[in-house]
Amino acid sequence: MDLNYFRQKLEEERARLENQLKSIGRIHPGTPGDWEPQKPEFNAQTSDENEMADVFEEFQTDASIEVALETQLNEVKAALKRLDEGTFGTCIEDGKPIEPERLEANPAAARCVEHTAQ
Ligand SMILES: [Zn+2]
Repeated sequence: MDLNYFRQKLEEERARLENQLKSIGRIHPGTPGDWEPQKPEFNAQTSDENEMADVFEEFQTDASIEVALETQLNEVKAALKRLDEGTFGTCIEDGKPIEPERLEANPAAARCVEHTAQ
């Protein structure tokens, strides 16, 4: 298996996810490495109720995207860690090799098909 190939793919994916996270969130001040969605900005003096509802709705959407991106980012980071530890490409449940076509489609895959809960 060409580990450098997967490392490169994972590094690219990490950069892509971090850029997306930066556009909608910021690094949690208390816990570096954790992200949180940007707080909505609006002026309570001049915003009417509808405006505030819109801003809040947008914040909710950003928050759910943020959570999904962060989950993906954590999976990519975990895969990079497995690369460093020499366990990349094996199922974290049973240690069996993960199907190559599966890794090709998703280099961050941590489980073989059998152990992937759908
Ligand atoms: Zn397995």
